[in-house]
Amino acid sequence: MRRLLADGLLHRPMTEWAPAPDPESLAELGARVDIAARRRLGRSLSIRQVDAGSCNGCELEIHALNNAFYDLERFGLRFVASPRHADVLLVTGPVTRNMREALERTWHATPGPKWVVAVGDCGFDGGVFAGSYACLGGVSAVVPVDLHIPGCPPDPITLLQGLLALLATAAERPKG
Ligand code: SF4
Repeated sequence: MRRLLADGLLHRPMTEWAPAPDPESLAELGARVDIAARRRLGRSLSIRQVDAGSCNGCELEIHALNNAFYDLERFGLRFVASPRHADVLLVTGPVTRNMREALERTWHATPGPKWVVAVGDCGFDGGVFAGSYACLGGVSAVVPVDLHIPGCPPDPITLLQGLLALLATAAERPKG
C-alpha cells in the first residue's frame, strides 16, 4: 500500500492531458449550428440520443456537449427525452440484436422530416464489435442513415461539426 502511494506521488498519471479549450472557435461553431438550425427548421434543433449497443465511450463525449464548457443549449441545440419531439436521432454503437426493435420503433416514432446521424466507428460498420454474434453491424443495417460522424469516440467539437454538416446538407437537399 505504501509503495502504491509513493508511486502515485512520484509518477505522473498514465493519462493524456486534455486538449487546450478554444472557447472562441466553439462559440463560432455553435452560432453557425444555431443559425443553420433556425434557417432550416425555423427553431432550435432537437436531438434524441439512442444507444443501440455502444461501449458508452461515445455517450461520454455526447454528454460533454451539455457540460458547463460546451453548454450547447445556448446555441439552440438541445437533447429531448422523446423521439416524438426530435428532429435528429443521434445513434451510437453497433446495433445489437437486443436493440434492433427498439431502434426501429424509435425511428418510426420520430416525426418527419427527420435525420439519423450514426456516431462513432461502431455506428458506421460495427467498429471493434463487427462480426460479433450479438451485433447486426452499423446503424444503417437497421434504419436509413443521413450522416456518419467518425471517431472512436468522436470528441464534442467533431460532433458539433457533424451536426453543422447535417444541417448544411438538409438545407441543400430537404426531405419531403
Ligand atoms: S466508436 Fe469507440 S467509443 Fe464509440 S461505441 Fe464504438 S468502441 Fe465505444
